[in-house]
Amino acid sequence: MSYDPNNIFAKILRGEIPCHKVHEDADALVFMDVMPQSPGHALVVPKVASRNLLDADPAVIAKVMPLVQKVAVAAKTAFNADGVSIAQFNEEAGGQTVFHLHFHVMPRFEGQPLKMHGRNMEDAAVLAANAEKLKAALAQ
Ligand code: AMP
Repeated sequence: MSYDPNNIFAKILRGEIPCHKVHEDADALVFMDVMPQSPGHALVVPKVASRNLLDADPAVIAKVMPLVQKVAVAAKTAFNADGVSIAQFNEEAGGQTVFHLHFHVMPRFEGQPLKMHGRNMEDAAVLAANAEKLKAALAQ
């Protein structure tokens, strides 16, 4: 399986389609998942192209994981969460739907199960507000 440079996250990384951006640096972009499985669900996306974890350069993984940790800590604060789930899916059989490596950061709340993966589109205003909350917590 090869990398398709026209996948939706590649388009977001190139600025061809919009996103609710939380953070950007030389190596990665963080934005809100439009179909959140929990309130505040964000995606950490390395800029270097790979389909998923299976074909990623280990150096890219090493670089992005501290950011995944930072976003997880900030998400717990920003959304007053009880916990945080990190998810990463590989290939269709592994549950992957967008074929550019990314990590899901999902704030978790006691007694609240995750919603279905990639099902219900959230209101843009909610996504924008959550991006601001997460951005503020990351800046602390
Ligand atoms: P995965 O199944 O791990 O590949 O996850 C892809 C995720 O991307 C899903 O949770 C979708 O809700 C999310 N998603 C799809 N399109 C967009 C988009 N344009 N902006 C933000 N998130 C998206």
